[in-house]
Amino acid sequence: MDTIEDQGSIKRVVILGGGTAGWMTAAALSHRLAGRGVEIELIESDAIGIVGVGEATLPHIRAFNTAMGIDEQALIDRTQATFKLGIQFVDWGRPGDAYIHPFGAYGEPIEGIDFHQVWAARRAGGDVTPLDDYSYPVRAAEACRFQRPTSDAGSPLSTFSYAFQFDASLYAAFLREVSCGRGVVRTEGKVVEHHLDAETGHVAALTLEGGRCIEGDLFVDCSGFRGRLIAQALDTGFEDWSHWLPCDSAFAVPCQTVAPVGPYTRATARQAGWQWRIPLQHRTGNGLVFPSAYLSDEAAQRTLMSNLEGPALAEPRRLSFRTGRRRRLWDRNVVAIGLSGGFLEPLESTSIYLIQLGITTLLDLFPDQAGMADDAREYNAIMALEFDRIRDFLVLHYVANQRDEPFWREMREMAWPDSLSAKVEAFVSRGLLPDYDVGVFHPPSWLAVLIGQNIVPRGWDPRVDRLDAGRLSAKLGGLRGAVRNAVDGTPDHMSFIRAKGRPMRGAV
Ligand SMILES: Cc1cc2nc3c(=O)[nH]c(=O)nc-3n(C[C@H](O)[C@H](O)[C@H](O)COP(=O)(O)OP(=O)(O)OC[C@H]3O[C@@H](n4cnc5c(N)ncnc54)[C@H](O)[C@@H]3O)c2cc1C
Repeated sequence: MDTIEDQGSIKRVVILGGGTAGWMTAAALSHRLAGRGVEIELIESDAIGIVGVGEATLPHIRAFNTAMGIDEQALIDRTQATFKLGIQFVDWGRPGDAYIHPFGAYGEPIEGIDFHQVWAARRAGGDVTPLDDYSYPVRAAEACRFQRPTSDAGSPLSTFSYAFQFDASLYAAFLREVSCGRGVVRTEGKVVEHHLDAETGHVAALTLEGGRCIEGDLFVDCSGFRGRLIAQALDTGFEDWSHWLPCDSAFAVPCQTVAPVGPYTRATARQAGWQWRIPLQHRTGNGLVFPSAYLSDEAAQRTLMSNLEGPALAEPRRLSFRTGRRRRLWDRNVVAIGLSGGFLEPLESTSIYLIQLGITTLLDLFPDQAGMADDAREYNAIMALEFDRIRDFLVLHYVANQRDEPFWREMREMAWPDSLSAKVEAFVSRGLLPDYDVGVFHPPSWLAVLIGQNIVPRGWDPRVDRLDAGRLSAKLGGLRGAVRNAVDGTPDHMSFIRAKGRPMRGAV
């Protein structure tokens, strides 16, 4: 007989999908739920396959891997990973512009005043020093150098974080090995039918081609864009954001990696849409993300293929998507994680971050049958806020452009989300940056994109005007010198990878 505690506990979790989302979920759940008597089964279909892109990450992935007990060096070796200090945006403001959105701070507060306020006031007074001179990750990335941060609070080496660029298929395969080693049951097969409980409307079971029936208490839908459970079984609505983020297509193609391999992802604006370049150890991932209403497939392929740095290693592959998210990412006993839950577009490498957030939030709330509706409400509120804030940040890149092509003119002139207009107005009038607890992008990220795309503050913190000019100049000179010295002492990125984290001769 069940104990009272047992009556409502989750005993079987079924994960549908074996892409990045499915295997990240399996690895995390098998680690965190170990010893709690929960069976985990993952269903994937080789015939359907995985989306196979998604190679640039944010620094948060490191905390996730560590929490899952995944060794960083093993990850780098197994996935042909390179390091990432930020994203370089080329031609986004005006053609010819380039800036890096770094994973790190600019300068440091001066007498309690945010550094960018000081910089903005000096700029208005005629100081032409670029903000980037105060950023170690920007200057190190440009120089194709990398080393891990240190904890020395006085050094520019303590002011940044880093992420990875890796082969998505190898990452999924690596996590599959880890998960199966921890007892996750992998089932190969295609789900062709779902069964809902007549009373609760919950998903009760899935039937595979061939007839096998798989039951579960909780289902994690990681089935990719099709949303086999969240959309096809439960018909949860979709909040469509394509009026703000109209790119709906991509062509992806790998090419040979050409030295030097910079520790950053590149996003170059094109006539309509933009092109990514993600350098890995063994190849470089490339793709053109574009709005099909403005660019034909033929023109998109031509643009992509004529802008590769090395010889192509395959034929370009086409992908279609719709930007937005499910109205509820957790509906009844189904949690949609990964592309099944929504997709904003890959401009700021946020999808894997959202997968990770979905998993950790699910684990924090890990439900029992009785409290599931409350857990779902909380989960949906957290995820909706994250999606909304990422959306605003992405839209900023599009609206803050000074390009001439019809696509870019229309993006500039469209109605912005109100929440974004308020943020930009606060920055222009007074140099204020969005700073909230929830949301992946912090003030330095907003600053990088705003300044990088030529939106500058007209006002600043009045306390800046009371700083002693001579002492301030000396302080700023010292900060710039420290960044320069730190970059000079940083090893070449690929040499650092080859040394596998061992101390290198000549390195600091
Ligand atoms: C053009 C593009 C570029 C991107 N770039 C980035 C990036 O740089 N950084 C980033 O973070 N993210 C990026 N993403 C997003 C990233 O690719 C995805 O978030 C990530 O790969 C996770 O995908 P997934 O696991 O949700 O889906 P998928 O990889 O599509 O996996 C779906 C799984 O479900 C299985 N499945 C589906 N239906 C069934 C069924 N009926 N029966 C059995 N199995 C089924 C499939 O077999 C597969 O295993 C990009 C996406 C696109 C489209």
